[in-house]
Amino acid sequence: MIEFKDVEKYYGDFHALKDINLDVEAGETVVLLGPSGSGKSTLIRTVNGLEPVQEGQLIVNGQDLANPQTDMNRTRKNVGMVFQHFNLYANKTVLENIMLAPRLVLKRDEAENKKIAMELLERVGLADKADKMPSTLSGGQQQRIAIARSLAMKPKALLFDEPTSALDPEMVNDVLKIMREIAADSSMTMLVVTHEMGFAKQVADRVIFMADGQILEDSPTEEFFANPKEPRARQFLSQII
Ligand code: ATP
Ligand code: MG
Repeated sequence: MIEFKDVEKYYGDFHALKDINLDVEAGETVVLLGPSGSGKSTLIRTVNGLEPVQEGQLIVNGQDLANPQTDMNRTRKNVGMVFQHFNLYANKTVLENIMLAPRLVLKRDEAENKKIAMELLERVGLADKADKMPSTLSGGQQQRIAIARSLAMKPKALLFDEPTSALDPEMVNDVLKIMREIAADSSMTMLVVTHEMGFAKQVADRVIFMADGQILEDSPTEEFFANPKEPRARQFLSQII
């Protein structure tokens, strides 16, 4: 589903991703760990074309995003992203936030669009907020709406960049619960940057550890937590657990 082959990415002169090789199979849930500035956000942003890569191959759902001729819009239809700060449209209701992209991009029939949006709001436990403006909701509620909005596009893969880092502690579990449910859907591919180690242990099939723009370790979850191979991964874990 997602395949990096010898990928290099630069911001100007700065070498942000170095020789990235990574395979994520359809249906897998992969958690990305690493210190601040290691390139986690950069890596996941390349997967839906938010950041271009300069060398190598980055095949997402059969398209090579390293090729400038690739139609990024097709990729973006198939790959959703959930951000730390939700990024909801502030001047649109909750329901409109969810219905907008399917209407504009997928040309989904209006009645069908509304039905799907309301089902998703039910699923994230916020059907009663359909007509509210995002600013009137808590951070945890806004993030659940942002997840529902991503799901409305029926993506093949979902990218999460620290989805719970901006939330008050009591909101975190509501969001993680929904992410667990999505991960349990065997057809959904998930790439998640998070500091929630409990979530990583329970839900991830694999853990990727990054430092200085490189992937230092790529291990099955149990193995990673029980016996990290890389000294820097070990040091990282000892600091956060
Ligand atoms: P954090 O845990 O703090 O979110 P991260 O692992 O997500 O960190 P990135 O945001 O991917 O790290 O940044 C990796 C490196 O690339 C950092 O050194 C950062 O300063 C640099 N960088 C990120 N975005 C840009 C940009 N738009 N222009 C130039 N440099 C950037
Ligand atoms: Mg980041």
